[in-house]
Amino acid sequence: MRFNRREFVLTSSSALAAGVFGPSMLFAQQPAPAAPPTVPVFTPLRRNVGIFSARGGTMGWLITPDAVLVVDSQFADTSQMFLDGMKSRTQRKFDLLLNTHHHPDHTGGNKVLRPSVTKIVAHQNAPALQRKQAAAQKTEDNQAYADETFTDTWKATVGDEVVSAKYYGAGHTSGDAVFFFERANIVHMGDLMSHQRHPRVDRPSGASIRNWLVSLERVVKDHNADTIYIFGHAKVGAPVTGSGKDLLTLRDYFSSMLDYVQKGISAGRSAEEILKGNVPGFADSEGMPQLQVAYDELTAKA
Ligand SMILES: [Zn+2]
Repeated sequence: MRFNRREFVLTSSSALAAGVFGPSMLFAQQPAPAAPPTVPVFTPLRRNVGIFSARGGTMGWLITPDAVLVVDSQFADTSQMFLDGMKSRTQRKFDLLLNTHHHPDHTGGNKVLRPSVTKIVAHQNAPALQRKQAAAQKTEDNQAYADETFTDTWKATVGDEVVSAKYYGAGHTSGDAVFFFERANIVHMGDLMSHQRHPRVDRPSGASIRNWLVSLERVVKDHNADTIYIFGHAKVGAPVTGSGKDLLTLRDYFSSMLDYVQKGISAGRSAEEILKGNVPGFADSEGMPQLQVAYDELTAKA
């Protein structure tokens, strides 16, 4: 599994904060910066749809008198914060939990939410990827998987809202779903959208930069100028929602990335030399660009 540097630091420091490592481990480590306190925040967006932020991928929610729906579950501890915060907002059991993809900062709370949820839905490739990931991380006992999966599209009436899902092919992984609240005109992008932050490209899980780039353009074409997009992640302090323009900026990022790496390959430069660079035009983004992944994709035999 490839993690960018920031994700690794966050994981390590939260593990420390959670007391996962024993005292001897603590002394053996470099002094880690104190993890920022996790503050759970519910933010309404439009027409009963909103977001929940604590730690990990941005969650989405729909709360109506007749139906409650959740998108993603972050981690076990933050999904408990979500449950606690929901108590004052609804008494209903959640009709649906939708997973945008299998990564642990999006499905890590599935098991905590499971008793409160009637059905979990994800793309058909997501459960197998989640199982593989759980085996690798020895977290099999902490998982809950989708009860229902879809191949290309999926749709449900949820209270007075209509929610649909679409698969745009390989992108951040090979099992990313884009969820659309049709009446609210809000799209949850999961990690297909990373705002001002170098996105993680999970090639071992079937990611494709080339198709991700095309997908972003297709998503924007499928919606309109008034659509609000929810982003899986953003640079610290930057908004986790935005417009189609932001999606096209990420498309340009990938285009610039592939172009930069391909030029290096064509000029006969070594991988090492190419990987020292940054994505032209995106040096201000948070984290590290995954140029190695771009290199691997561009040099892979078909
Ligand atoms: Zn992810």
